[in-house]
Amino acid sequence: MTMFSGIQFVEPVERTLDSKFKFRCHKDIGCFNKCCTRVDIILTPYDILRMKKSLRISSEEFLEKYTYTHFDEKSSHPYAMLKMMDDNEGKCPFVTPSGCSIYEDRPATCRYYPLGQGIMISGKETELVKKEFFFFIREPGCLGYNEEKEWTIGTWRVDQGVDFYDDINREWKEIQLRRDAQGQDRLDPKSQALIYMASYDLDRFRRFVFESRLLDIIDTEEVEKIGTDEIALMKFGFKYLKYVLMLENTLKVKEEYTK
Ligand code: SF4
Ligand code: SF4
Repeated sequence: MTMFSGIQFVEPVERTLDSKFKFRCHKDIGCFNKCCTRVDIILTPYDILRMKKSLRISSEEFLEKYTYTHFDEKSSHPYAMLKMMDDNEGKCPFVTPSGCSIYEDRPATCRYYPLGQGIMISGKETELVKKEFFFFIREPGCLGYNEEKEWTIGTWRVDQGVDFYDDINREWKEIQLRRDAQGQDRLDPKSQALIYMASYDLDRFRRFVFESRLLDIIDTEEVEKIGTDEIALMKFGFKYLKYVLMLENTLKVKEEYTK
């Protein structure tokens, strides 16, 4: 689920929350900001919610200005990727001489670095086996590993606030993995557009929910909450995707529409 320019520097060893490492990143380090250039970052739904809020723009504007779409080769699942500047340097649009201008709302991948996180799902629908793992990315230009501060992967995740991101995004991350585990076909353009909207374009998804007949058809007690709480709306989007992609019966259709 995570991509970065230094994929060749990923240590091929799966790590756990107890794995230890030494690392410190600070403004006086010789490589400061070097990791914010020419990097490929898959954005998660919650990344976009936080970034668009930080920039005080709509999801549509954020997606248009700061992302491009990458389609997974095998499943054709669409992913929003953070777009680097189109100049010789290829810097992230949010990097400044004093660091990340959206630091408090930076994406999960940036929070994890120099670690990466992955999820694997295998087995049949009734007995799915889920596994989360972590790995170190040891890019030679990153001098933080030479510092003395000690962490476990667990304490790093909490310090960087990425444990909270993982909790929110987990259900969404599992959607493609569950489709793969079921051996579902490649997506048609309509399903790709629905996944993209419900995953990333929260303001458009809100209009879709409240201005279409969806809420007449499904039985939900969440209407008020999803109208006022963006995280609740986003999680409703995950349920909606699981339902339309036939992964799980997450929505209840009103009786009059089932006859
Ligand atoms: S979002 Fe911030 S931390 Fe992430 S690559 Fe851009 S400048 Fe660096
Ligand atoms: S220490 Fe690593 S993470 Fe920190 S600025 Fe340098 S390259 Fe980036």
